[in-house]
Amino acid sequence: MQDLNQIVNGQKLFQKPEYQEVLKGKKEFEGMPSCDKISEVSDWTKSWDYREKNLAREGITINPAKACQPLGAVYAALGFANTMPYVHGSHGCTAYFRTYFTRHFKEPTPVVSDSMTEDAAVFGGLKNMVDGLQNCLEMYKPEMIAVSTTCMAEVIGDDLQAFIGNAREAGAIPEDFAVPYAHTPSFVGSHITGYENMMFSMITQMGVAGEKTDRINLLPGFETYIGSIREVKKMAEMFGPIVTLGDVSEQWDMPAGNYQMFAGGTTVADLKDSINSKGTISLQKYASKKIMKTLKNKYKQETHVSNPIGLKGTDEFVMGLSKLTGKAVPAELTVARGRLVDAMQDSYPYMHDKKFAIWGDPDFLLGMVSFLIEMGAEPTHVLCHNAPDGWEAEMRALLDTCPAKDACHVWAGKDLWHMRSFLFTEPVDFMIGNSYGKELERDTGTPLIRIGFPIFDRHHMHRYSIHGYEGGINLLSWIVNKVLDKLDDETKQTAKTDYFFDLVR
Ligand code: SF4
Repeated sequence: MQDLNQIVNGQKLFQKPEYQEVLKGKKEFEGMPSCDKISEVSDWTKSWDYREKNLAREGITINPAKACQPLGAVYAALGFANTMPYVHGSHGCTAYFRTYFTRHFKEPTPVVSDSMTEDAAVFGGLKNMVDGLQNCLEMYKPEMIAVSTTCMAEVIGDDLQAFIGNAREAGAIPEDFAVPYAHTPSFVGSHITGYENMMFSMITQMGVAGEKTDRINLLPGFETYIGSIREVKKMAEMFGPIVTLGDVSEQWDMPAGNYQMFAGGTTVADLKDSINSKGTISLQKYASKKIMKTLKNKYKQETHVSNPIGLKGTDEFVMGLSKLTGKAVPAELTVARGRLVDAMQDSYPYMHDKKFAIWGDPDFLLGMVSFLIEMGAEPTHVLCHNAPDGWEAEMRALLDTCPAKDACHVWAGKDLWHMRSFLFTEPVDFMIGNSYGKELERDTGTPLIRIGFPIFDRHHMHRYSIHGYEGGINLLSWIVNKVLDKLDDETKQTAKTDYFFDLVR
């Protein structure tokens, strides 16, 4: 039990005799097998035999490397000023979205829900929607409410357009109040699909046709590195006026003592005008296909897609900006590029030939794998749980540019329990991925470099950029310093391996 005069955290508390006694009793109650049996099964799960069975698994996902659609829709909504994300469906799902983001950003995340329960699941959620919209408007006074759905609302077939229309007729919200909406059924796609669905709805439902402008839309995508958003905005603004479609960099980075329900974000006026921009640059191809197609075909915009992670990707972004705006590359960017190239040259000897396992979202992986190949590393296992159509072939083509291509595998639609089998049967030197790789690190002993989303168990990573030339240096620092940590660890044994325990690396 806790001693009121000396409160301790769980780490120390659960070592106390009374808790150890409970743990022992629990093991007996659950009929825990002997330690030998556990070791035997554990060893088998590391074998090729188990890997084949694991790969044949169909009915269950274990340790997924993706989240569900409405989570992405909530992210998209929070990129706009004074906008409340509104989830039509279960309250529990909404609490999950809030905590997921809050654990990653260490900041509060405003999202409301109309909390459908059993009666709404049987009779439909119209009443919840009417009351919910009215309450949301009266309590939080947003300028816009962006509505998405959970599985429950989708399974029973609630119609958002009709429901929002009914809420207007009932006087719950004014006739002209902005309520963009997107159906986000979680049994299809992932958070990336939900992000695109909501962003598409916001642009197309809110856009107001007018005179063409000289502005360029910048579409960062589902980007959870605050520093990345600031970095790409800074780079794009060097070429002229831009509209960032979805900017969460202030919402999830508020100074202490200055909390507001809504902070920063793209203004609703800019959102409405975005369809009149001269062109759009998307930084995540697989989070924007539908959007880019519509902007090009319906709104006659020039479009460009690049993935500014690493040197090649950032070069393509810069050249895309130059082409769309007709402006030369500023000297500042040429200097920044030179610095990244210099840093890459310094680190190349340590990253060359190192084998990596990596997982994450489709565009993140394309950028990161390209960068690993630039650094002479071998992306041995590349796993994308939420791989969309066309991604696997594109990744394969990228891996085929790696000299070690025959040892590089693409795993589309697989989860992190599959990754565990790959790591035991075809080991690598390092893993790159989100916090869910923590268990893999413990199980396999493979060092984890935390890059991706979510990162719950380390602080401040999201404040950095992984995009642009400066982002490239950050990535390099995280990766190569982990390589050097491991090298020190392997060479520190006195009189055995310390002939290479050098001060200078
Ligand atoms: S998958 Fe469905 S039930 Fe689960 S959190 Fe997402 S919306 Fe809710």
